Amino acid sequence: VPANGGNTAGSNPSEREMLEREISKLCKYIGRSPWVFHVNSGSCNGCDIEIIAALTPRYDAERFGVKLVGTPRHADVLLVTGPVTDQSIERVKLVYEQTPDPKVVMAIGACPTGGSVFFESPFTNAPLDKHIPVDVFVPGCPPRPEAILYGVVLALQKLIKKIEGGME
Ligand code: SF4
Repeated sequence: VPANGGNTAGSNPSEREMLEREISKLCKYIGRSPWVFHVNSGSCNGCDIEIIAALTPRYDAERFGVKLVGTPRHADVLLVTGPVTDQSIERVKLVYEQTPDPKVVMAIGACPTGGSVFFESPFTNAPLDKHIPVDVFVPGCPPRPEAILYGVVLALQKLIKKIEGGME
């Protein structure tokens, strides 16, 4: 097993550089960095760990100011992981309402799209967009950090459209 555990994610510098350039360009265009709030709607934590990987030194989206914040009231982007369980659904809706407009919602992983391995559970309420509007779906179980960063690029493009459309 290679030193990195066989994980080749991020081993393609041109892919990483392209994502970095796009995120940097879009942040400059809107004149600020997007802050993100993470909501776990019952996930197995696999996706949550990949979100952390996207933010920490190897991928380091934080150097563009893309960072987790402690309250949805300061967030531009909501990251939702998990299959939307009965226990979490009202909290997810509340967090969505507490996030100021303009905002974008990213559904991370296969769970909020269709339930993934929790699909047959009677406590699963996926897909997420039955309950709140979703701007970007990032597939994977879990998605690789590059996919999450690509989702951030799409989310920033949607945020710009919303700002320019007068939702601010
Ligand atoms: Fe876990 Fe997969 Fe669901 Fe992510 S998509 S929370 S890795 S089961």
